[in-house]
Formats: sequence, C-alpha cells, structure tokens
Amino acid sequence: TDTKVAVLVPGRMHPRALARLKDAFDVIEASAAEIPSLPEEVRGRVRGAATANSMSATWMDLFPQLEIVSNFGVGYDGVDSKHAGTKGILVTNTPDVLNDEVADTTIGLLINTVRRLPVAEQYLREGRWEKEGPFPLSPLSLKNRHVGLVGLGRIGMEIAKRLEPFKVKISYHTRSKRDVVSYDYYGSVKELAAAVDTLISIIPGTPETHKIINAEVLEALGPNGVFINVGRGWSVDEDALIAALKADKIAAAGLDVFYDEPRVPAGLLTLPNVSVLPHVASASVPTRNDMADLVVDNLIAWFSEKKVLTPVPETPVKR
Ligand code: NDP
Repeated sequence: TDTKVAVLVPGRMHPRALARLKDAFDVIEASAAEIPSLPEEVRGRVRGAATANSMSATWMDLFPQLEIVSNFGVGYDGVDSKHAGTKGILVTNTPDVLNDEVADTTIGLLINTVRRLPVAEQYLREGRWEKEGPFPLSPLSLKNRHVGLVGLGRIGMEIAKRLEPFKVKISYHTRSKRDVVSYDYYGSVKELAAAVDTLISIIPGTPETHKIINAEVLEALGPNGVFINVGRGWSVDEDALIAALKADKIAAAGLDVFYDEPRVPAGLLTLPNVSVLPHVASASVPTRNDMADLVVDNLIAWFSEKKVLTPVPETPVKR
C-alpha cells in the first residue's frame, strides 16, 4: 500500500537487508548516476535511506524530507554525518555485531603476514614443494613481538583480547587513555611505533586520521616492523608504505583496506613481504546478516517508535 514510508537505497545493498526493507518500506532503488535525476515527486517522498557507506551532503540535500540515514557498516566515513547533524538528519551504523569477525580476521591477517602462509600455500599449489623441496623458512615470527594497537575501541579491544593468548606484549595509542586496560599507553602514533615492532591500525577514517601512518611512523616502527591495517586505507600514506617496504625500512605489511578501493597499487602487489585481502574483515555470511538486520532494525525503530538503536555520535539522540 502507499502508506509505506519511502526509503532510498542508493547503489548496492545486502540482499537480506533489501528484502526486509521491501517488506517494511516503499523502497526506491537508484544507482549513484540515477540519484540526481530522480523525479522531484519521488525525492520529496523519501524519508529514510539505507546505504553502504555512501551518502554525500549533495545527495542528502536532494531529499527535503530525509530524516535518517542507516549505514551498513560500523565505519561511516562515506556518509557526511556532520552535514546530517546540522540538518537534524540521524545517522546510524552497525557497531558491535561485527567485532568478533573483524578481530578474528585481523589475527588471521597478522599470522599470514608474519609467517607468509598464503605464499606457502601458493608454493604447494604450484607443485613447487615436490619439485624444489621445503618452502623457505619465514624470516619473521609472532613469538616475542610487541604489538601496538592504533585504536582500542570496540574492535581494537577484541583484537587485544585475542592477542593475549599469543603471549605478545600489547600497547596502544588512542586520543584518550583508556582506564579499563593495563596496556602501556602512548600519546602519539609515532611514539607507539617507536616502542613496538608490530603496529595494527583499527581507527576510523576521519579528517584527523588522514595519512596518520606516514613515512616517519614507519621509520619509527623499524626494520623488524610489521604493519597491519584493518581500519581504513585513508589512514595510511600508501606511497610511503610502499617505499618503506621496498627499502626494508619495515619488514612486512598485511592490508585489508586501501586508500582508493578497489584500486590496489601495483607497487604493493609486486612486493614479496605483503599480504593483501579485498576488504573482507567482516565479510562472512552470518556477520553480514547481523549487520543487514541492524541496518533495517534502525529504520523500523525510527519510523515506528521515533527512536534508533545505534546512532553515531555526530547525531546525538536518545538510544
Ligand atoms: P570505535 O569507535 O569503537 O573505536 C575507534 C578507536 O579509534 C577508538 O579507540 C578511538 O579512541 C580511536 N581513534 C579515533 N580517532 C582517533 C585519532 N584521531 N587518533 C587516534 N585514535 C583514534 O570503532 P570500531 O572499533 O567499532 O571500528 C573502528 C574502525 O574500523 C571503523 O570506523 C572502520 O573504519 C574500521 N572497520 C573496518 C572493517 C574492515 O572490513 N576492514 C570492519 C569494521 C570496521 P579515541 O576516541 O580515544 O581516540
């Protein structure tokens, strides 16, 4: 019936989220290219949006009745939440339901990087074990490492918990020191990098975190250094990272996220000491289903009870 609230879905959306949205709402699907040319009548009806980290200020301004943007993903750097805040538009994300998955993937990527397991698997698959003998020993080991977490939020905490049984020392950097942990705190990324030999970045993409992992930080991490990024490629000076890896200023890197996804610089892929993943940290069927449900549940809660489950801090509302 036409009493259903109109919800915009700009671009791709998880199939389960889309199906549930279609049950509850009048869903308007439009590609990025189609959005600016949506008829005024349609634009005027849209009161909600479900997006996969893509909602600019320009887009928001096309929908005068827009009340809420429900983002698929905990990171919402592609949603102009500041602009939304000034216009009284709510933004929600999908925190917590993906913590375990992302932390698990981080540990996998760390071990892959340090022990070169994907390269070893490739070696076996290419028949080289039989022809050439044992795979070369990995120069690096996780044993006795000192891991520095850049970011110790919801996901960072789960990574830290998983690192403890590996018997590595754990330290961290965030803007504000956390009282709930006894790990050593460092007031800057550079100081943390200088103290540790393994750096894991799990911070959001914000104006403040742009290229926060730069040449200086990598230099401080040192020749035995391993850099892992599961936060945002935005936080890394990718040219500086490639240069540091090439010049053996750090030992290895494991990356799930990149500066200009899905474009990955060829300079990274030709390096032997890099392990890469196509942004899959949360990408299991069960976890993505949970994220999909939270995207829809936020919209349903808003339009049925005028409350939301997981608002982002830039749009302060009661939970
Ligand atoms: P939280 O908000 O819970 O934690 C963010 C952490 O980063 C906090 O410890 C925060 O501490 C710290 N931080 C924020 N800004 C800065 C800064 N300028 N300098 C130093 N530290 C900073 O977020 P989550 O743990 O839920 O998620 C973190 C990010 O991980 C997401 O925003 C997303 O971008 C990324 N992510 C990537 C995934 C993937 O698929 N690879 C999957 C899920 C998330 P403080 O505020 O004290 O500085």
